[in-house]
Amino acid sequence: MANFFNDNESLKFHLHHETMKEIVKLKERNYADYGKYDYAPSDFEDALDSYEKTLEIVGEISGEILFENAESVDHDGPTIVDNAVVYAKGTQQNHEALRDAGLYGMSLPREFGGLNFSYVPYVMAAEIVSRGDCGFANIWGLQDCAETIYEYASKELKDEFLPKINQGFTCSMDLTEPDAGSDLQAVQLKATWDEKGDCWRLNGVKRFITNGDADIKLVLARSEEGTTDGRGLSYFVYDRKHRAITIRRIENKMGIKGSPTGELVFNNAPAQLVGDRKMGLIKYVMSLMNGARLGVGAQSVGLSEAAYREAFKYAQEREQFGKPVLNFPGVYEMLANMRAKTDASRTLLYETARCIDYYKSYEAIAKERKLELEERQALKSYQRVADILTPMLKLFTSEYANQITYDAIQVHGGSGFMKDYAVERMYRDARILTIYEGTSQLQVVAAIRGVINGGYINLIKEYEAKKAGPEFSTMKKVLVSMRKRFEEAQERANSFGSNSEFYDFNARRLVEMCGYLIMGHLLVIDANRCNSFTNSAELMIRMGQSKVEEAATFIMNFEEASLAKYKIVSDCKNCEV
Ligand SMILES: Cc1cc2nc3c(=O)[nH]c(=O)nc-3n(C[C@H](O)[C@H](O)[C@H](O)COP(=O)(O)OP(=O)(O)OC[C@H]3O[C@@H](n4cnc5c(N)ncnc54)[C@H](O)[C@@H]3O)c2cc1C
Repeated sequence: MANFFNDNESLKFHLHHETMKEIVKLKERNYADYGKYDYAPSDFEDALDSYEKTLEIVGEISGEILFENAESVDHDGPTIVDNAVVYAKGTQQNHEALRDAGLYGMSLPREFGGLNFSYVPYVMAAEIVSRGDCGFANIWGLQDCAETIYEYASKELKDEFLPKINQGFTCSMDLTEPDAGSDLQAVQLKATWDEKGDCWRLNGVKRFITNGDADIKLVLARSEEGTTDGRGLSYFVYDRKHRAITIRRIENKMGIKGSPTGELVFNNAPAQLVGDRKMGLIKYVMSLMNGARLGVGAQSVGLSEAAYREAFKYAQEREQFGKPVLNFPGVYEMLANMRAKTDASRTLLYETARCIDYYKSYEAIAKERKLELEERQALKSYQRVADILTPMLKLFTSEYANQITYDAIQVHGGSGFMKDYAVERMYRDARILTIYEGTSQLQVVAAIRGVINGGYINLIKEYEAKKAGPEFSTMKKVLVSMRKRFEEAQERANSFGSNSEFYDFNARRLVEMCGYLIMGHLLVIDANRCNSFTNSAELMIRMGQSKVEEAATFIMNFEEASLAKYKIVSDCKNCEV
């Protein structure tokens, strides 16, 4: 029986991280729910046991049902019947299996029927589901919307919607419009207060909405007439029972074909305000997006794991020149780099999840009682780190999932190009990961703050100060030399002023240099705990060293005047026809 949790020791390794005892204690408020709710844990060991048992179920459903259905779902896709989206048969089966196992609303408090999972095991479940079927992970993962309702909506809205999520009611996050993609400040969908109906009314078009026909929709809309920026936007919850939306079409996509992506017309749709007016984009969407970016990180790692395994299996079985192709340096180099990138992505994922766990728990406790000084400092410090790690995570893991699925096809040779092999689908599924929830370019726009305010370099120095066994001294020395090279490049970029176009032009290079350093350090820390990560640590640092050198050389030799050479392409004055 395939079980995508039990067959993956790396997941258990991260679940047993030394900080988990403290994280779970905070999340469980020192196990205050014990005795009040069935299955509430009595102590850390009990909680960990419950996480493992639940993840085993996720692993079994993902291995036995989601993965098995993935091919037919990719082929069949969803359809529209009478203005309603009908999932592919396999998608419906996936949804029911996870719903019946109680795996919706996992992170919600028990009072709303949830499992009160901390982020680490919840994200782990998302990774496992994504390994089963990357596209289906969207439908399941949109339960994240529950978090936003829980954090910001009124008690009435919480009571109305949250228990439904646990029952398997589906969600969607409706932000994008034809003229508002990366720039969500441009959202135009109109929200007007209806005095008679005692509700808000939504009118306008949303496009590219995953699971657009969901039961519960969180919608960003312009509530303040005459405004043109983010300060005029509020957040609303819409219940599908009103049937006030026309599904204009389902997109015919390149990948994640089982995940319905719809264009929707809101026709005077009744909705209720979530939280405060005008805070829609500034506060609530930003918070939801951060959760969704963590989700795409998990999706990317799950897909990377799946593609690596397919490629490794094939390379062992396929023989050429009288031996398995795995034996050729050109092939085993690809596989070793795929493994290293997957391990690096995963360690970044769980480091980010742990920081989010800490600060979210402190935030929640702050609503119950006044925090001690030390707790307030911890909240701020973990939040700062989570804020800079989240865009870095989304950037690296999604780009790596694309590289890994690309190489997985390469390892398969011509067979990889055929629909007979799962890697063909995985390669198509990967392509969206660098686009939705903010493109890679937008992740750089967010992450560059960590370069400018010194957040990354402080973190890197903290990792540098951590002790590791003597076998890691060479790796640590290389990491120090990489850090110095980054500082040189940063100094040069700073000499042009952090607001200049020159700086923006090199922002991705600066962010990526920090990423290689952070992933290198995290893998050394992991390898120091368990030597099965030593290989990946060494390979990632070797890879990172050459990437940092490449980026530094580019920046050191770049003149502001060189920008014109790049701009000429877009000006294109010479090729008028
Ligand atoms: C399959 C799929 C599912 C989706 N699901 C949802 C969903 O559930 N809910 C939802 O609300 N949306 C969803 N989206 C929309 C998605 O989030 C947007 O497509 C994405 O944010 C990019 O917006 P855009 O397509 O308008 O591209 P644009 O914003 O037009 O970007 C075009 C190019 O310009 C670059 N660019 C734009 N601004 C900048 C900048 N400031 N700096 C540097 N480069 C920049 C981009 O990186 C990109 O390369 C989905 C999209 C797809 C394809």
